[in-house]
Amino acid sequence: MSRTPREAERDNGTQGEESIFDLLTAYHRSLENMKAWLDEAGFDEVERMGIVDAWQAEMSEWFRSKGYCFACNRRLEHCHCDAGRPPH
Ligand SMILES: [Zn+2]
Repeated sequence: MSRTPREAERDNGTQGEESIFDLLTAYHRSLENMKAWLDEAGFDEVERMGIVDAWQAEMSEWFRSKGYCFACNRRLEHCHCDAGRPPH
């Protein structure tokens, strides 16, 4: 009987405790996907900037939800940069 990765993750007690390396790997994968999509979609420069900004804000929120600062990649409790605050 094979287990799903999620079940294995739960057994190992690692769920919800991704390392910064896991987050960065997911981040780079997402970045590549977005770039490929932007290239295909044929947006103009202003539209692209808006989409990239929105994506970065989303990534920043996601890092924070995992307990890391998006700007410096430190745990939030060790972060001293302003980017630890919500985007304005
Ligand atoms: Zn920081």
